Amino acid sequence: MTTRKPVNPNHARLDKVVADARRARDERDQSYRGQALKLYPWICGRCAREFDHTNVHELTVHHKDHNHDRNPPDGSNWELLCLYCHDNEHQRQLDTRSLTAGEGRNTSGATHSPFADLASLLKKDE
Ligand SMILES: [Zn+2]
Ligand SMILES: [Zn+2]
Repeated sequence: MTTRKPVNPNHARLDKVVADARRARDERDQSYRGQALKLYPWICGRCAREFDHTNVHELTVHHKDHNHDRNPPDGSNWELLCLYCHDNEHQRQLDTRSLTAGEGRNTSGATHSPFADLASLLKKDE
């Protein structure tokens, strides 16, 4: 019996703000990723796995100081990492953080399940 759909102008505006912020973030991500891919060879900085156009979507841009807002055009804050190594890199940071703050795990739960299977696949290569 809860078919009533309240129209809340504030909520609609908030949705737009969130959508705008999300789009801005996506555009920013795309731009620094594009720049980093132009600057650096398509190789993971940790495991040295090489990438080409068929799998370059698995190559991600890591921020060395973990500050995604710091994107110097010379690329000094970027490092190209494959999904697995990037996940490991942040997992280490989460582990450190969870010891001090007691949180940080739940927020990234959704992004970790896809890697669980991939991690076992990766093990075969090692
Ligand atoms: Zn790697
Ligand atoms: Zn990163």
